Amino acid sequence: MKRPVYLGIDIGGTNMEVAVVGAKGHVLARDAIATRAKKGPEAAIARLASCVAHLHEPRWQLGGAGLGCAGLVDAGRGVLGSSPNLPGWENTALARIARRHFGVYTLVDNDANAAGYGEYSRGAGRGSRVFVCVTLGTGVGGSIIVDGHILRGQKNTAGEIGHMTIRETGPVCKCGNRGCLEAYLGADALVRSARRLLASKKSSVLKKWMRERTQPLSPQLIAEAAKAGDRAAHMVFEEAGAHLGTAMASLINVLSPDVIAVAGRVAAAFPLMEPSVRDTIEQRAFAEPASLVTIVPAKLGTDAAVIGMAMMVRERAAGDRSD
Ligand SMILES: [Zn+2]
Repeated sequence: MKRPVYLGIDIGGTNMEVAVVGAKGHVLARDAIATRAKKGPEAAIARLASCVAHLHEPRWQLGGAGLGCAGLVDAGRGVLGSSPNLPGWENTALARIARRHFGVYTLVDNDANAAGYGEYSRGAGRGSRVFVCVTLGTGVGGSIIVDGHILRGQKNTAGEIGHMTIRETGPVCKCGNRGCLEAYLGADALVRSARRLLASKKSSVLKKWMRERTQPLSPQLIAEAAKAGDRAAHMVFEEAGAHLGTAMASLINVLSPDVIAVAGRVAAAFPLMEPSVRDTIEQRAFAEPASLVTIVPAKLGTDAAVIGMAMMVRERAAGDRSD
């Protein structure tokens, strides 16, 4: 008997990642190719299909393909509404195009839900009832999964944790609102905060690196400096942790999750934020839901989205979930 496998695909503005995932969530094969977004979705998916044909082994039975991409996705219809990273792809019936190329059942969801579902099904959120995944990267994303179902809200607009208002009079966010979590924890915001603190005497390591190295200031470099004892770099994450804690305190009071996972590229710096995250939650959230939540770093790293899409398509193809 052939082994059932599922495709998990993560379509980014620059690269597309494709993974062949087994029924238990293990990545069996993978590849990454350039998106070349300007050439359009049809060309991109055709290239993905030939990439999959190369990876495929005769002993595998392809059970479906799940595509995750940044932007507003109508998961029910399989349509990408808009995506800042994929200009010209607006209102594309991605699921239908993918079905034509792959010849199997297909699903489309946004990248935050893809990563959230990966962590829920095979990572940090396994077995949880109310699971919140906060993704820290260029922006701040989120996914809320209740009893195995992604909380979608009206027209798939729920879960925008990055755009929870943390301070009414805070800095202007890319979305136009003031004081969103993303305006404090997005990569640009962390870099801005580091530049402000670099002017102080508290930075030694980072200032020296900035003089010696040619690479630009990034959350990863700030985290490295903090770990090397740079006080200013440490303060960047202490402040960021307080803002993240404020957002989590509200999420805890509203949703009473059993697990909150912190995912994304900046999640590696979570230990630097953790003390101020926990202090802030203790100050701001009700004792009872706060004592019942486990806050953990995500487990699947950059594989969360591809595993999540593969598991989502596996569940749906099996017909035992309705979301
Ligand atoms: Zn915003």
